[in-house]
Amino acid sequence: MCAKVHRLGCDQEVTPTSVVYQTRRSKGHVCAGLDAAADRDGQHRVAAGAWPRRRLGSVDARKHLALAGSSVLVGCARGLGGQGRNATRWITHGYASLRRWDCHDAAVSGSSLDVAVVGAGVVGLAIARELARRGARVAVFERSGIGSGASGVQPGGVRRQWGTPIACRLAGESADFYAEADEHLRPSVSLGFRRCGYLFLAHGEETLARLTANVGVQNKAGVPSRIVTASEAAELVPGLGVEGIFGGAWCAEDGYFDRPQGVVEAFATGLDIRIQDVLSLDELDAGSVVVAAGAETPRLVPGLPIVREDRYLFYSEPIAERLLEPLVISAERHFAAKQLGNGRVLASDLAARGDEAQQPQWRAHVKAMVEELLPVLTYVSFPLFVRGEYDTTPDHQPILGQVDEGVYVAAGFSGHGFMIAPAVARILADVVLDGESDPVLAVLDAGRFADNRLVPEPQLV
Ligand SMILES: Cc1cc2nc3c(=O)[nH]c(=O)nc-3n(C[C@H](O)[C@H](O)[C@H](O)COP(=O)(O)OP(=O)(O)OC[C@H]3O[C@@H](n4cnc5c(N)ncnc54)[C@H](O)[C@@H]3O)c2cc1C
Repeated sequence: MCAKVHRLGCDQEVTPTSVVYQTRRSKGHVCAGLDAAADRDGQHRVAAGAWPRRRLGSVDARKHLALAGSSVLVGCARGLGGQGRNATRWITHGYASLRRWDCHDAAVSGSSLDVAVVGAGVVGLAIARELARRGARVAVFERSGIGSGASGVQPGGVRRQWGTPIACRLAGESADFYAEADEHLRPSVSLGFRRCGYLFLAHGEETLARLTANVGVQNKAGVPSRIVTASEAAELVPGLGVEGIFGGAWCAEDGYFDRPQGVVEAFATGLDIRIQDVLSLDELDAGSVVVAAGAETPRLVPGLPIVREDRYLFYSEPIAERLLEPLVISAERHFAAKQLGNGRVLASDLAARGDEAQQPQWRAHVKAMVEELLPVLTYVSFPLFVRGEYDTTPDHQPILGQVDEGVYVAAGFSGHGFMIAPAVARILADVVLDGESDPVLAVLDAGRFADNRLVPEPQLV
């Protein structure tokens, strides 16, 4: 007797028992096989290499289970002496014992996940949210707590001004998402995205030429940025000290969230988040794993060139008067400042690295730059000092995509992971669930370092 099941949208005649089997962690894919039968002793066995099969996204496979009906057999490739790649290989070459599961149980209450995400920073959470939104069973494994890495420190800057097309693309898609963040993320209190504008200053011709080249790249990517003269810069930032300034680059669409931690919380809302220090990816019972563990990522995926870089921020107490709306950055003076939505003024010595004992020197530098560039802030003091870490790659671009069968990485954000998290989430969800590879993945893959295909990003803060 033949049963009719739907497979990948096409009907197919199969022998008595239709079989879909799934390796416990076949690294991102479910192998679906048909035409297998129970053998005489009642053990369900399949010769995987012998019949048609195709690698499916796990959600597709669950849809397939639901379509195939309750007599479907689901095998977990247990007892194969290994998981993941090993299990897949074993099935290719031999027989797998299968367990009878009710189809509904397999889809709803089976113990294994479609995707395990490591890291509850903004990137891991955004990816997990996108996966869950598309119907995947996903959990986030976090060692310490939500936003306990760089995501809990970042002040919520979102800009479109970059010096490489790939960064403009990721930032552009994400900025579009963030412009409607309240609609997308439905927070209980508005996240307050403000388009305050970013002004990059040039104190010399060389810097102005570099900013001009970057604006060219941005305009090609549809970013409405422009080069401004020193006097235009002073109009954009009232009170700006323009002496010695050659001009700058300005984009009015760049901005800040009033509640950056509200964004992290909104991505996390509704997710299955488990406190677990993941020591090895083999601990995770899931079809695929996405490692978004920030600077810790190389511990789980050895060989990735991600290094920690200290970063320090100074904050004032909240000030009622609005003193400085745009973010003002001088790369040459390694200085940036901005008044946040809560009234605090944020200022940074962008060159501050290493031993925190140097704090007085960094503070003195910030004060000197305030007096030179933003005298309106002269009487602002900065009692709060906050330390954070960038997870930096050699070209200051993230590492995205598959690094092993069923293992994906989203890390190495080099100081801009918050502002590109929405695009990264969409791209990772596409490839993990549907095998769709966005062109970004061919550029920002882990292999670019060995192949000398670096994409150095010049417009850093
Ligand atoms: C001072 C400062 C200012 C910044 N300003 C901005 C800004 O304005 N705009 C912007 O876009 N970006 C900014 N950034 C960068 C931004 O914060 C990061 O790029 C972004 O938060 C990275 O998010 P993530 O989820 O990749 O990593 P993280 O936030 O670091 O999260 C990684 C998580 O993984 C967890 N983890 C690690 N190892 C394990 C393990 N083995 N098992 C379980 N869990 C594990 C950690 O506990 C952590 O919670 C700033 C960063 C700093 C430090």
